[in-house]
Amino acid sequence: MDKGLVCDKCNNYFARKVEKPFLEDSTLKLLRFAEGLESKKGKVPPVSAVMNGKHAVTLWKDINDKFAGHVDVPVEVFKTIKNSNHKRYALRAIRAIRA
Ligand SMILES: [Zn+2]
Repeated sequence: MDKGLVCDKCNNYFARKVEKPFLEDSTLKLLRFAEGLESKKGKVPPVSAVMNGKHAVTLWKDINDKFAGHVDVPVEVFKTIKNSNHKRYALRAIRAIRA
């Protein structure tokens, strides 16, 4: 094997024992999300968050827009927010938590 190359066995070992645990770390996930770092497939992994301090939601990054993304809000939670006095705070109050 040429100098500078890695055999499949070693490459697989690092993928499982180093890369995977590193990428699955909750703090790193948030950093990756904030920076919009894409995977090989061109996706930024979503993160879990709490909206209005109590509703579990999922945040998705739009890689084509530095500041945009979307929030998956469960239907029942959306109804609660829509009917509350706090709706103007709803999307502002999203706070990412450690997954
Ligand atoms: Zn090797």
